Amino acid sequence: MDDEIYIGLDLGGTNIKVGVLNSSGKLLSKVSVPTQRGPEVVIANMISAARKAVDHAGVDLNAIAAVGIASPGSLDIDAGMVLHCANLPGWDNVPLRNRIAEALGAPAILENDARAAAYGEFFAGAGRRSHVRNLIMITLGTGVGGGIIIDGRLVHGQKNMAGELGHSIVVPDGLLCGCGQKGCLEMYASASRVGQRAVQALQDSQKPSTLRGVLKTSGELTARDVEEHARHGDELAWDIWNQTCRYLALACITAVHWLDPEMIVFGGGMAAAGDFLLQPVRHHFTANYWKLEPPELTIRISELGNDAGITGAAALACALLRPYADNKGIRNAGK
Ligand SMILES: [Zn+2]
Repeated sequence: MDDEIYIGLDLGGTNIKVGVLNSSGKLLSKVSVPTQRGPEVVIANMISAARKAVDHAGVDLNAIAAVGIASPGSLDIDAGMVLHCANLPGWDNVPLRNRIAEALGAPAILENDARAAAYGEFFAGAGRRSHVRNLIMITLGTGVGGGIIIDGRLVHGQKNMAGELGHSIVVPDGLLCGCGQKGCLEMYASASRVGQRAVQALQDSQKPSTLRGVLKTSGELTARDVEEHARHGDELAWDIWNQTCRYLALACITAVHWLDPEMIVFGGGMAAAGDFLLQPVRHHFTANYWKLEPPELTIRISELGNDAGITGAAALACALLRPYADNKGIRNAGK
């Protein structure tokens, strides 16, 4: 049992990441290869990358206890299928889980990528401390994704839609989201929208701003531009950044009242801002939180970064084998 290993596969639009973890939860090896196009090619790439990672880890392919696969797109979790995916053209009704399981000769699970990352952060990242049993992760990338762990378990909901935190409405009758709702968090706090909101603010006001030069040169603004110029004291950039943190804080307050987590973790590209993101979010959280009693919530930045997906996928694969264990990840596996 001590030699059991778990594989975590993270299928992204650009890269496939694979991690091999041992039964103590240690990452033994990591491989990243380009995703390329079309399900057949991509599945072949996933399998060869997994074999390469096993080889790099110096373990035997027969030692694989289970495989976890984190995938974007619309999934049928129970059937292990990718139904369709905007980032992966040609992926319609692909039985990804079974294809991988057959090729690697081990049981496998399929999970949404943001949920897998949340689980990874829960057991081996910011939430690994034993007192954390309830954690919410909010991923700030092109969109706003999320994952919810309650009582140590990843929450799926009736249609595996639990954790779509980016579509929490934070502004009544606000900006129209691609999902058809108005005022979704994603329309205000995703990395792409922060840049676009800054462009709009420049167009709507005559205020001097150092961002005007950047916009003139590159024709667009990124969340990183807004962050940098806010750090350097640009008032308009700071207003956008600070407002973004306020929306995030309001979403956190709602999440706390619904689910009472010990921890909320921010991940994704914008979380690289670190304290510059956390401090205003914490400020707005405290300022707006109810006064009945002080909050007992820790708000942090992801500790695993890009490894959260592979780690979480592997840990969920382990949980599949030990569904009734008190499973704080795979540290307890094999005992
Ligand atoms: Zn929406």
